[in-house]
Amino acid sequence: MQQRAMKIWQLIAAWLVGTALLAGGLIWREWGQSVVRFERDVGNMHRLVAQRIDQHDAHMTGLSALIAVSDPPPVDAIRAVVSNISQFYPRITGIDIVRLSPSGTVFTTRSSAEGPPRSAIDYSLRENTTGAVTLPHPGSRYLIIKRAPQSASSRYVLVLEIDAAKLVDADADGSLDIALVTATSGDAIFKSQRWVDVAPPRSLRLETERRASSQSQPLDLWLRRDVPIISLVTLNPLLLLAALLAGVLWLLRTVVDARRSAAAAGTLAQFRTQEARLAHATRINAMGELSLGVAHELAQPLAALLAQSQAGLRIARSDKPDLAAIESVLEANVRLSKRAGILLAKLRDWVSANPRTHHVTNLDETIAGMVALNAEGFEKADIQLIFHPSNAKCIAAADTMGIEQIVQNLMTNARDACRDAEPRGTSVSVSVFAQGDRTGFSVADDAAGIPAAVAAKLFEPFTTTKADGMGLGLSISRRLVEQFQGTITAGTRSDNGRGTVFTVVLPVVKVDRAV
Ligand code: ADP
Repeated sequence: MQQRAMKIWQLIAAWLVGTALLAGGLIWREWGQSVVRFERDVGNMHRLVAQRIDQHDAHMTGLSALIAVSDPPPVDAIRAVVSNISQFYPRITGIDIVRLSPSGTVFTTRSSAEGPPRSAIDYSLRENTTGAVTLPHPGSRYLIIKRAPQSASSRYVLVLEIDAAKLVDADADGSLDIALVTATSGDAIFKSQRWVDVAPPRSLRLETERRASSQSQPLDLWLRRDVPIISLVTLNPLLLLAALLAGVLWLLRTVVDARRSAAAAGTLAQFRTQEARLAHATRINAMGELSLGVAHELAQPLAALLAQSQAGLRIARSDKPDLAAIESVLEANVRLSKRAGILLAKLRDWVSANPRTHHVTNLDETIAGMVALNAEGFEKADIQLIFHPSNAKCIAAADTMGIEQIVQNLMTNARDACRDAEPRGTSVSVSVFAQGDRTGFSVADDAAGIPAAVAAKLFEPFTTTKADGMGLGLSISRRLVEQFQGTITAGTRSDNGRGTVFTVVLPVVKVDRAV
């Protein structure tokens, strides 16, 4: 039961570890996909912004060309072009043309009160540059300023004001955080609303920088995406895989269990066969013993019958009529008696002279097998069965089957004694020992000891105190031991003051003879 509970815990632990690994794998895969999506979105955004920036340069060039047409520049033509630009490019939020000397506004898309941004013209003059410059401007805008036409002596300055928010509004799902900065000084022109320096807790940050400049607009795009960790946990496939894993583990366990019980059944069947073999051998021995008993019992009356018949014959011969009839009867009696006597003698001779082949037996191994065979029966009777092997290669000159029968008898008796004792006995120890040129084993119990009524004739046939006993176990055991030139003795246990110990001592086989 405990073993079963442990197996269930092992199963749960395996499932948890497996599910954690699966979750890890899924998160890793999801993260990989997030990186790929980010790279793709960044690529799209960068391409689009770069294209738009290039368009600004094209407008600057077109307007510069118009300014150069005449002096003063053709304002009507310029207005027509600007109106087109404003209509199709709403991110271009202001266009100014300023004359430097004498200073004045030639053209502006702003209200007259506001006028062209002063800073732009100042900067342009201060720098005294002929190339275009890009300046951050309030309201997430930037200005592109350029002399028109493009020479240090030109008297006009062209200004384009760009709404950076509209420049970078290409992110379809708005999940990219974008900043636009000047590449030269790193001044921020635009930062999307969610732009924060530190990634929010429980999220992972993806970020990159791309140069998005044209000749006139040295700009950098900073792009970020914060991915909440929870969004990486894709629940449905995880649940599916976890359930699948549970199923596989359960199946595995069922298969392993089935294999184990098949193996256990095999071992049990082996035990049962051995048990049956022993029972058979015991029955055969019991028959022999029974025959001996019968022979012993019949020998006396047969002898008396013979003596009486012979006496009758003598009397008949002396003085009675019909002597011939009596004589023939008595002669028949004598013949029968003699014949019965001879038969019984032959039977006895056969039983007692039945020679056992003296094999060799490794006591540790053989008795370990018997202990295993009896383990279940002892466990059921709630009696502890302890085995002390000698571990000294005790090889007895005795045949294995005989040793098995003796051990079986002694263990059965010890178990019965423990079961029937008051108070009950609790343990039986089986020990193998080596003793010089002898070896042997003992079976000791902690029951009530040998009943006084049977103590004197313990090893004689038909001695029993059990209701269903035959009283043959110990006599058979002694006969077997004697056939092996060994001894069997019974005594009171000296080590714990209670119980019985049966000791069998056998001749040892020299190790070089052992198989
Ligand atoms: P059975 O077991 O059929 O009675 P046995 O010859 O094996 O025949 O045993 C004879 C008797 O010896 C038993 O009935 C029992 O009274 C006694 N005996 C044998 N072993 C023990 C033991 N370990 N403790 C107490 N009495 C025993």
